[in-house]
Amino acid sequence: MKIAIAKGDGIGPEIMDAVLEIFNAAKVPLDYQVVEMGKWVFDKGYTNGMTAEAKDTIEALGILFKGPMETPKGKGVKSINVTARKTWNTYANKRAFQTLHGVDTVFSKAGIPIDLTVIRENIEDTYGGIEHMLTHDVAISRRIISKPGSEQVIRYAFELAKQKGAKRISCGHKANIMKLTDGIFLNSFYAIAKEYPELNADDIIVDDLCMKLVTRPDIFDVLVLTNLQGDIISDLCAGLVGGLGFAPSANIGDNICIFEAVHGTAPDIAGKNIANPTALLLSGIAMLNHLGLTGSAATIENALLYTLESGKHTGDFGDRSTPSLNTTAFAEAIISNFGKKPKTNSRELKADHPQQQFVAKLDKNLMMETKDTSKESIAGVDFFIESDLQPDELAKIAVHYNNEQFKLINVSNRGTQVWPTGSVYTNLVNQYTIRYESPASTTLSQEEIVMLYSKLIQDFKVCSVETLLQLGENKAYSLAQGQ
Ligand code: NAD
Repeated sequence: MKIAIAKGDGIGPEIMDAVLEIFNAAKVPLDYQVVEMGKWVFDKGYTNGMTAEAKDTIEALGILFKGPMETPKGKGVKSINVTARKTWNTYANKRAFQTLHGVDTVFSKAGIPIDLTVIRENIEDTYGGIEHMLTHDVAISRRIISKPGSEQVIRYAFELAKQKGAKRISCGHKANIMKLTDGIFLNSFYAIAKEYPELNADDIIVDDLCMKLVTRPDIFDVLVLTNLQGDIISDLCAGLVGGLGFAPSANIGDNICIFEAVHGTAPDIAGKNIANPTALLLSGIAMLNHLGLTGSAATIENALLYTLESGKHTGDFGDRSTPSLNTTAFAEAIISNFGKKPKTNSRELKADHPQQQFVAKLDKNLMMETKDTSKESIAGVDFFIESDLQPDELAKIAVHYNNEQFKLINVSNRGTQVWPTGSVYTNLVNQYTIRYESPASTTLSQEEIVMLYSKLIQDFKVCSVETLLQLGENKAYSLAQGQ
């Protein structure tokens, strides 16, 4: 079996070399093809941070094992890490966090065991990076959450919980505020939960989840969240088990999977051979298990756990009164412990059952669509406009455009209604939303909206437009605060 390797930037090459040395010493039956990806590839003029050969190799082999990569700061360049996850539809980001003996935390000292798996949606949400300035003062970010995208990652989370024999699977969300976006995610969670009656499925608001994770992490097992909330929660969980040096990550798709550490390029310690390779090694162990190389994975994991238990450590963790090992020496210590069994969490040594990643040959992009047949109609329109008028003055102008098709319903500023009712204590910025709906609740057409748009621009600078959909009996748009 062959996999693609990208060593990455900063500490990437140092920790990847250490991990590959451990793999080679364990005689892991893998061949490696090194591909060109990362900051240095951006610097050579490749705007997406990888060469065409790298892309072709990864698409042919289906597995990328990568070190951390730096995103050049400044405008116009997107993160190579996010681009890779999105381009190849690695829709589930799996991060497993376990108490590691030898890595002291408040919980290990209190005897509270941690065994958490966080599944983070990996494609959608604000990570689309779809942002626009509406005025000099106001920026907007689009948060795209789809039913098929949510179902894909949630189904993966339930399958994983079933395989793990999880005692609980919980959906973290903020559907009390973001009723449509997080609402889709939460509804998908409970729809799929019906297919897994043997699993204990529940949901928790994400702020409450944060509080409970830092007080009682042992009450959770598998967590599934949208992208940004999952990103934050998984770093929180990394902190619970000892920090970023111990946080592995697997980006799982139907065709291509990417294994990497959660941490970044650690520019402050790059080139010093002092970085902790454990997170990348744990990601590599997850990759070996994914490829059916369970025997090799168990040998390496047992040696790693034994090494940690014996008090060996790099400079970022462990007993400060004992000398720390550098990256190379830490890798050698692990190799010297092959065949030894840790006292806790020892893995059973089984034979490898290699399973080549199957990369389907696709000749077109897959359209994912649900079979929602509810009747769709246009009930109104929101115009995002620039104005520094007071709400009453603005509404006086906007109401002139009322006619048989459109009636001004309300004016809001940063999502808070300021007309027809509002409070003088609401601070304003120079971007309002004016909402028109059909007075007779008749269906509006796109042409009618364009007509209204073309009239409005005589009085206002229109920054953006959203149609207000009615889906079946439901208004498919949010109300302003106070509406
Ligand atoms: P970082 O994770 O690189 O570093 C945060 C802190 O943790 C630093 O003090 C660093 O020294 C320490 N640290 C991280 N990994 C360590 C390790 N293995 N051993 C010992 N100490 C370690 O985060 P950052 O400084 O915010 O980001 C630096 C760069 O990495 C940025 O360009 C960012 O875009 C990139 N990044 C890449 C990835 C990825 O490739 N998946 C993830 C996060 C950040």
